[in-house]
Amino acid sequence: YTTVTNEHKDLFTVDSPNVQYTDNEIKSKYVYRTTSVSQAGDGKYVATPKETVYDFKVERKVGKVGMMLVGWGGNNGTTVTAGIIANRRGLAWDTREGPRAANYYGSVVMSSTMKLGTEAKTGKEINIPFHDVLPMVHPNDLVIGGWDISGMNLAQAMDRAAVLEPTLKDMVKKEMAEMKPLPSVYYPDFIAANQGERADNCLEGSKASMAHVEKLRKDIRDFKETHGLDKVIVQWTANTERYADLIEGVNDTAENLMKAVESGHEEVSPSTVFAIACILENAPFINGSPQNTFVPGAIKLAEKHGAFIGGDDFKSGQTKMKSALVDFMINAGIKLTSIASYNHLGNNDGMNLSSQKQFRSKEISKSNVVDDMVEANNVLYKPGEHPNHTVVIKYMPAVGDNKRALDEYYAEIFMGGHQTISLFNVCEDSLLASPLIIDLVIIAEMMTRITWKADEGDEAAAKDYKGFHSVLSILSYMLKAPLTPPGTPVVNALAKQRGALTNIFRACVGLQPESDMTLEHKMF
Ligand code: NAD
Repeated sequence: YTTVTNEHKDLFTVDSPNVQYTDNEIKSKYVYRTTSVSQAGDGKYVATPKETVYDFKVERKVGKVGMMLVGWGGNNGTTVTAGIIANRRGLAWDTREGPRAANYYGSVVMSSTMKLGTEAKTGKEINIPFHDVLPMVHPNDLVIGGWDISGMNLAQAMDRAAVLEPTLKDMVKKEMAEMKPLPSVYYPDFIAANQGERADNCLEGSKASMAHVEKLRKDIRDFKETHGLDKVIVQWTANTERYADLIEGVNDTAENLMKAVESGHEEVSPSTVFAIACILENAPFINGSPQNTFVPGAIKLAEKHGAFIGGDDFKSGQTKMKSALVDFMINAGIKLTSIASYNHLGNNDGMNLSSQKQFRSKEISKSNVVDDMVEANNVLYKPGEHPNHTVVIKYMPAVGDNKRALDEYYAEIFMGGHQTISLFNVCEDSLLASPLIIDLVIIAEMMTRITWKADEGDEAAAKDYKGFHSVLSILSYMLKAPLTPPGTPVVNALAKQRGALTNIFRACVGLQPESDMTLEHKMF
């Protein structure tokens, strides 16, 4: 086997008085240009260009990073683990279509590029891998661990998942057999009853408790110590839970939420217990499922501790297409009037979602994904007007992880005409979700090494560098129902989400956003 070396080397440096490199840091001074709008007495808008100068600081040393997955023994957990092992060892395996080799396709960080700029002499565009814009952890270097209510080792669990080719499974089996999920918290009321059978690796107690929080905290600390890690990122890729009821005095504030855990209140979900443990351990926690893990009290707890959280629900197939296609249609001036989305899938996620309360969580998360685009177009839509949107999910065991998503987009075009776009998307769900899990870890880790402040010259000047807000909205590109800091807008449009991600990282090395104006090529 070839071993891949993953030492980070800078692919480029920025030559600017606003950017400084030291052994440990990259410091940049960045002018953030926005437009401030006010409405005058006559109803007309006045737009005023505004500049804010920010100082960014990036820690260059990546350190040793651990990824802990809740639901490690599931389809996503086993697939991402096998995928990373295969990449780490540079594996190639035989399939009926010929040999295949490990790759990171589907990961925006590992397999997409961004334009660095234009070569002065030739006018040629220079593109670099996204992974090289800042010093980021390489997925091959992640130490992987996690929890599952099913005690199967990862090799058996990978067989149960039925996602990967047998030839590949054979090559990673030995290593995977040694991986065994830690026992987890299981409150049967939160996931479908049909999951009960696999729950043989559970901590005692079927309601939230401080003992559970403390045990999960200890698991994280032990994992860190055993592997000599600098930090651990935790992700929920366990079953979709039902929504927790929001109850005043129970989950509305950080204090009440902690009290609710202490008293074993039945509305505190396992995923919220994980979130609390991670917040208290200062381990970034990302929720890859649709339920409302981040009840208001959990968000407030994260803010209080300056800990990072992100969510909700991986945006892998149907919704990713939706957030790209609807962005295109509405920005093309086409009036989308309805979206009908059907899914059928036959994996364990599908079986869990065949239960009404869990389906409801998914339905909510899939439903709001076009709101921002519709609201922004006041030419096509009157205030409050909205396209019809329906989401159906059915469990069909025969198709396994090969999820089917059928969508019909119906739109009004010029002069009362109609356009119908029909999509049929078939793919292994877990092969789409696994690279997202990797991206979420890499980006969340990156965010732990970026601090910033308003520059001295600015009226909002601050003395100290600070991290980003606890709620990592920068992760929106990978998530269906992006969580944003309370009171701030949600962006679902895929291109905007990618823009925010690339441009914030560019700012950290003092580079302007890629404007796509290419004026250098347009002079007469
Ligand atoms: P899966 O059912 O194969 O895996 C989930 C695992 O979680 C199972 O092994 C189960 O035993 C375990 N589990 C359940 N409750 C647990 C708990 N309290 N603690 C620890 N482990 C627990 O499902 P999957 O296909 O891997 O998907 C995982 C989640 O990701 C689902 O909620 C799904 O809706 C969500 N998701 C998946 C995709 C995708 O494309 N695959 C996209 C968006 C969201």
